[in-house]
Amino acid sequence: MLRAATFTRPSRPLRLVAVLSFSGRYSIMSTSTRRKSLKQLGGDATAVVTAAVTTATEVEKGARKVSTTRAALAVVKVEVNEDEESDLTEPEEEEDEKPKKKTKRAAGKAAKAKPVKTEDEPPKEKKTKAKAKKGMEEPEVKDRVKSDMCVGAHVSAAGGVENAVLNAASIGANAFALFLKSQRKWTSPPLTEDSISLFKARMTKYGYDTGMVLPHGSYLINLGNPDAGKREKAYECFLDDLQRCEQLGIKLYNFHPGSTVGGAPLEECLAHVAESINRAHKATSHVCIVIENMAGAGNVMGCRFSDLATMINLVEDKSRVGVCLDTCHLFASGYDIRDKTAYQATMEEFDKVVGLRYLKAWHLNDSKTPLNSKKDRHENLGLGHIGLPTFSHIMTDPRLAHMPMVLETPSFEQQEVWGREIDVLYSFERDHKAKATVYWDGKVNQVREIVKWAEGKGKKPSKAGAKRKKGDAEDDEHECGSD
Ligand SMILES: [Zn+2]
Ligand SMILES: [Zn+2]
Repeated sequence: MLRAATFTRPSRPLRLVAVLSFSGRYSIMSTSTRRKSLKQLGGDATAVVTAAVTTATEVEKGARKVSTTRAALAVVKVEVNEDEESDLTEPEEEEDEKPKKKTKRAAGKAAKAKPVKTEDEPPKEKKTKAKAKKGMEEPEVKDRVKSDMCVGAHVSAAGGVENAVLNAASIGANAFALFLKSQRKWTSPPLTEDSISLFKARMTKYGYDTGMVLPHGSYLINLGNPDAGKREKAYECFLDDLQRCEQLGIKLYNFHPGSTVGGAPLEECLAHVAESINRAHKATSHVCIVIENMAGAGNVMGCRFSDLATMINLVEDKSRVGVCLDTCHLFASGYDIRDKTAYQATMEEFDKVVGLRYLKAWHLNDSKTPLNSKKDRHENLGLGHIGLPTFSHIMTDPRLAHMPMVLETPSFEQQEVWGREIDVLYSFERDHKAKATVYWDGKVNQVREIVKWAEGKGKKPSKAGAKRKKGDAEDDEHECGSD
């Protein structure tokens, strides 16, 4: 039913690496060993795809090497999990999935790609993973800006959670998010001792505070589900995530509050979420559970500040609950944050309704859709309906110091996109301190150019002016997480 294709495309560097045939339809994956969730290639199945991409000579070197060399030969392994549908997903309001977007954007390239060989490939995932892990070279570390504002991205944990640390270090991130397991599976193998110790060793080596890591919960989890059986299944997955956090020494855990699925009143479902948080607190020792605000489509909960407050009010241990504000979700759910006055008003309302003391983290995303659109469509900073000034308000708001602020913008599998967005974000802080005039168009162009390049449509732009000389950062003890 689902076939893996291997092809070569040696003429030029590419992001496009695989053509998958699923019930006669085609879709494209880009360079990565990251596990992909390619939603709805056809039928009802969710196809989880592991793509190991490499040139013949770089087979042994693993994912990192591959993603930087943009190699030419793809080996794709596919598994189909037909029975692992989320009970949360509502048809017209899905989370903005990067793979979906990529698939769409890359569609033009599909025609150009010439499969030279198409065959059923027996899954050799385990072997590939082991290779990727062993082969994951220490990255070229990008200098990190010394700042109280802790900016980073949701990086890949392909090959093991320990690799997320390397991916963060390679883009100059001062904070990062990751998935602790497959975000589309109900169960995943436990973290290995090796993985845990390597994660911790790398956190120390690269100078990351464990409070600057914001794991993102599985998309399957709906703790508000009125169906007790489904809710229990979600709770087990949720608790498993929290236990992984504790094994890794991570202090925060971010999740989507879920949906009423139209089956019960909002208040009742919000209470279910709080009840699960209370239960999870008792089953764990320290991790702080951070509820994300949502964009607001259909029956999704957490779109209004009052939803967040209702859940928090019902949580017994208030020291271990908080909120992660996603800028795209805020905007899509009707909270304007574009000009300084609107941003301040939104923050004041948050403080009044929820309380700033509960604000623990941010997701920094522009929005492809307008204010109050109720759509969750992330866009690169400055290229959407929110615009760069909002991110400048955030970067210069001292109330937001020492909390992870994580990009979830489209990267097109090129981490450099996030690296550039991080540079732009820190430039706002620098401009503000220097009382310099901000040239918005120039900054938007910096993002636009790197995105174009990542999409395979342009030359790689030169480094942003924000970068410091190599070596400068070595002695810096960055201050993120030192609260
Ligand atoms: Zn988010
Ligand atoms: Zn979102």
